[in-house]
Amino acid sequence: MSSLYVPPPKCLEKRFVAPQRHMFGPGPSNVPPRILAAGAEPVIGHMHPEMFEIMSDIRSGIQYAFQTRNKVTLAVSGTGHAAMECAIFNAVEPGEDVLMAVNGIWGERAAEIAERIGARVNTIRTPAGSCFTNEDINQALARHKPCVVLFTHGESSTGVLHPLDGIGDICHRHNCLFVVDCVASMGGAPLYMDTQGIDILYTGSQKVLNAPPGTAPISFSERACEKVFNRKTKPVSFFLDMSWLANYWGCDGKLARIYHHTGPVTNFYSLRESLAVLAEQGLENSWCRHQEVAEYFHEGLENMGLRLFVKDKNVRLPTVTTIVAPPGYDWKEITSYIMKNHKLEISGGLGPSVGQVLRVGLMGCNSSKASVDMVLEALKDALKHCHKSRV
Ligand code: PMP
Repeated sequence: MSSLYVPPPKCLEKRFVAPQRHMFGPGPSNVPPRILAAGAEPVIGHMHPEMFEIMSDIRSGIQYAFQTRNKVTLAVSGTGHAAMECAIFNAVEPGEDVLMAVNGIWGERAAEIAERIGARVNTIRTPAGSCFTNEDINQALARHKPCVVLFTHGESSTGVLHPLDGIGDICHRHNCLFVVDCVASMGGAPLYMDTQGIDILYTGSQKVLNAPPGTAPISFSERACEKVFNRKTKPVSFFLDMSWLANYWGCDGKLARIYHHTGPVTNFYSLRESLAVLAEQGLENSWCRHQEVAEYFHEGLENMGLRLFVKDKNVRLPTVTTIVAPPGYDWKEITSYIMKNHKLEISGGLGPSVGQVLRVGLMGCNSSKASVDMVLEALKDALKHCHKSRV
């Protein structure tokens, strides 16, 4: 007689096979066979010499993708949110003033994260689909005197690519760190961490990099390190404490590496491979391809009579497109129809764009004219077959 009172679950007797889908939502994107295969290599120890070599390769790959020479560059074991928390938890101490630029959900989330650690959170806000001017930023910094300001480069909830030129200088004139979220833009739009004066930059693995979700590249400038490594209080999270992580990743200059946590070994293999793909293709080629494909897509949408949510062409995010929800339709019916009949994921809005837009992400290997043609076909088919009320 068994002593177990919970029997083995019947559902686990069946082998799971993942469906094949075109992952054209705002993420995760499809993982190409080469990157999947890298993740299927045998697990080795997270502190074996070969693993340290892989981590060192990842650091070089991130330095290339971010265009930075920062020593403190690594990948957090977690998704984009872990990197957001890592940036904020390490750079901000309780009671300090921060400024969050809110032009979509990500500034809102960053504000909530900072609030949870007892920071004094100030915000500047602009309507979804638009950007701040450098003068708006200058005035807000003069008013709030924050020690950290956070911007989202690619606002995946609204489809805006926020210009970054000049903001770094403004922040530094106000003695403030410039933190940028490039989760949805890195690899798909020009970004130069060092020359743009970015102090903390982070991204995720599952968008343009086409790796599985679960690792999040992050880098700290010397100015950021000066603050982060001279705090009065310890960061609230042990797991995300940069003094531990910098040692684990071999970027604190110390010879001995101390166990901190068990890194997600196979996810690191995949991340390394995805960075190798980006390096092979060339960063500038990747930026150009995303831009060209986005313009081709936007033209196709307008030719179908659909409207783009972001009015100003110059600030449209090339990786994630927001389409004004077609009037008279239920957007949920459209996304479900396309999933069911075309095995293709596109999504509805998020945060301030809920109910207002459809979002299509064409990132990394999915950024091609062939993918655009597929999405346009699927949308045409959905608009023909989904229920339309009189507008
Ligand atoms: N920032 C931006 C701009 C994003 O698009 C996302 C993911 N949609 C995140 C942060 C959070 O990343 P994750 O879902 O990997 O935690």
